Amino acid sequence: MWMRYGFYFKLILLNYINIFNKNLINYFSGRYNENEFKSFRLKYGIYRQLNSYMIRFSILCGKINIKQLLLFSYVSLKYDKYYLHLTTRTNIQLNWFNIFYSFEILKKILYFFLNSIQSSGNCVRNITYYYIYKNFNPYPFCEILRQWFVCNSEFLFLPRKFKISVLNYKKDIIAFKEHDLGIYFKKNNLNNIKINISAGGGLGRTPTVGLYILKNINWKNLLNYCDKILRIYNIYGFRNNIYKSRLKILLKLIDVSKFLNFINKEFNYSINKIFFLNEKELNSFFKYENNLKFSFFKKNLIYFNFFFLNWIKFNIFNYNNIILPLKMLNKPSGDLNYIQCKILYYFSNDFFLHISVKQNLILKCYKYFFCYIKLKKYFINIYNSNLITDNICCPGKDYCVLANSKSILISNLIKNIFINMNDIFKINKIYLNISGCINSCGHHHISNVGFLGLNKGGFENYQVYIGGNYDNFKSSYFSKSFSKSFSYFKLSYYLIKIFKKFLLNNKYYNFLNFYNRLFINQI
Ligand code: SF4
Repeated sequence: MWMRYGFYFKLILLNYINIFNKNLINYFSGRYNENEFKSFRLKYGIYRQLNSYMIRFSILCGKINIKQLLLFSYVSLKYDKYYLHLTTRTNIQLNWFNIFYSFEILKKILYFFLNSIQSSGNCVRNITYYYIYKNFNPYPFCEILRQWFVCNSEFLFLPRKFKISVLNYKKDIIAFKEHDLGIYFKKNNLNNIKINISAGGGLGRTPTVGLYILKNINWKNLLNYCDKILRIYNIYGFRNNIYKSRLKILLKLIDVSKFLNFINKEFNYSINKIFFLNEKELNSFFKYENNLKFSFFKKNLIYFNFFFLNWIKFNIFNYNNIILPLKMLNKPSGDLNYIQCKILYYFSNDFFLHISVKQNLILKCYKYFFCYIKLKKYFINIYNSNLITDNICCPGKDYCVLANSKSILISNLIKNIFINMNDIFKINKIYLNISGCINSCGHHHISNVGFLGLNKGGFENYQVYIGGNYDNFKSSYFSKSFSKSFSYFKLSYYLIKIFKKFLLNNKYYNFLNFYNRLFINQI
């Protein structure tokens, strides 16, 4: 069982897909040119890449059922090059699909409650979330937000893309405050659910940490406030300059107090009653949240061996969250082929997977040892979690039209340089991210060590950033530029420069500690 679309939502989506089909025929018959069709296809998550079209399926909160994953593996087998790509925004992409089959694919995935609508373009693109089982689950709130903002004609043409994050836990693995809108759920002393809303975060050209603009609001008002924030942004956001049109720039220019004034005034003009959430509505979503069954893992024995303990140390967090790293040698980060999908399907018939911001899969399971045995058998390199070889990497110049430099190449080079497990474990936990251009889909700003692709005089160049962190959203900070731009051939020189002192020095537990104690010029 998984979260289902309501009757009306499904009807709206079906209608949208039919409209897409009509316009696709118009495009093929030559009534639309490429530019006219572009603004239309972007609403359906279809990009034009260097070599082919790419489709991005929106996975709400990165949460996916095993049957849905199997469906994607089938789609990749039939219409693509046998693999899926997991993105840093917890969506799934097909990088080599033929646009001719797009209607067929969209219709097929709709039966499994999936779609690609509004996964790109200037609209509410995605909702990223993470929570732990100890607290309540905010997933139904995300579903309500999604159903309100997707296909809502008022928010179809925002000034720029808009991303939402949802969290209910202090430890941050989704870069909570680096989203346009961050919703933090908490319980007060009386066990009532309260919400803090942060706005104006973002990465890209002007990396900004979001500010809390509203605190301790009642959960019933969540939709009300989110709707008003988006409405104000839609009215006042700058549309004449693409680099100034995000919410973070608007908040910097008009100030938070003025922005809140606008929101308060907006309440006078709308019928607020329809935005109030009620328990009945929420519970209707909750009932589809199934209890996890792990029929495959019958026993719960623990055997102590060195590799298993190391695997537990790096791959398990929050008691039952098991990270399954998808960083194969000489493959782009986040690629999952159809055979791996099938293997996961045989693990169990009915469990949820979570796509993480680090382009990995997260399984929820308590039976560590049996999980370890099975994963070890079928997935290569399962120890590779939160290590230097577990790097986030955007598609870069291999696929993306906007890219300045290749990023998959850098990622693979790092994986090939660091093959000694002693060195890798000595470097310990580190976030190493690579972006092919300033759009920073690879999140290089918030990494401990980040690489940014630059174009200098027509040549591919890179720049190193050091010292960012987003482990705790209360104290997340951005990395600083460490070097001038350099060519690909100098990469190993810079890697040695960054890590040599740290590897020779036994005092520091992890790289960020080392960086914080020694200043950047001493590295
Ligand atoms: S960071 Fe740039 S190169 Fe990489 S995927 Fe995003 S737009 Fe493309």
